[in-house]
Amino acid sequence: MKIDAFTIFPDYLAPLKLSLLGKAQEKGIVDISIHDLRSFTSDNHNTVDDTPYGGGAGMVMLPEVWGKAIDSVLRDDSDIIVLTPAGVPFTQRVAEEFSQRSHLIFACGRYEGIDDRVRQHYESDEYKTRGIRVHEISIGDYVLGGGEVATMVMVEAITRLMPGVLGNPSSLSEESHNDEGWVEYPNFTKPAQWRGISVPEILLSGNHGEIAKWRESQAILRAKKNR
Ligand code: SAM
Repeated sequence: MKIDAFTIFPDYLAPLKLSLLGKAQEKGIVDISIHDLRSFTSDNHNTVDDTPYGGGAGMVMLPEVWGKAIDSVLRDDSDIIVLTPAGVPFTQRVAEEFSQRSHLIFACGRYEGIDDRVRQHYESDEYKTRGIRVHEISIGDYVLGGGEVATMVMVEAITRLMPGVLGNPSSLSEESHNDEGWVEYPNFTKPAQWRGISVPEILLSGNHGEIAKWRESQAILRAKKNR
């Protein structure tokens, strides 16, 4: 998978080189390029924003700069992801869908966001027939200062679903938000006693059938309590 992320703060996305994602890039499973949006400006001040038509607070990101940035990497198999708190909620199902795609472009907004004509332009029939799709995505019902953290959340959730990224892929099947929509049971490790609290007896029994039943019941209780 190829990932291109555009931001006015490229350093913000530096952690994408760490941990499992760093290893996935070394193995060639995913190739991530982080681009400085300001390198697509054409004035001496590297301007990326201007005042909103219709008035109001804040600044809006210029369509021309975003158009040049996206055009520089666009392919016929591209999915353009516009991060916005007004977007479709990002869930594990959405992550699964994106993990099957071959080219993701992340557009990190700042200020009041990106001029909406950027979305409209790439949603037009000309791009649709080429196979290019635009997605407005929100990572949750709150407002961040920019799309960089949202990009990191999405890239991590998407890429860990790709074959070869996790050391033990079977851990994907039993975790929270799997196909059955459950949350995971509570986990325990050594020692068997910690600050007066014992590990549930059943987990020390070696009876895998009973352990599976207990875990399922705990997962249901946890889901009822928290969700
Ligand atoms: N004026 C916008 C609104 O009310 O919808 C909020 C703009 S926000 C301050 C600046 C940028 O942060 C957005 O363009 C977007 O890229 C990003 N952002 C903020 N919250 C987000 C969220 N929940 N999910 C995804 N991106 C978010």
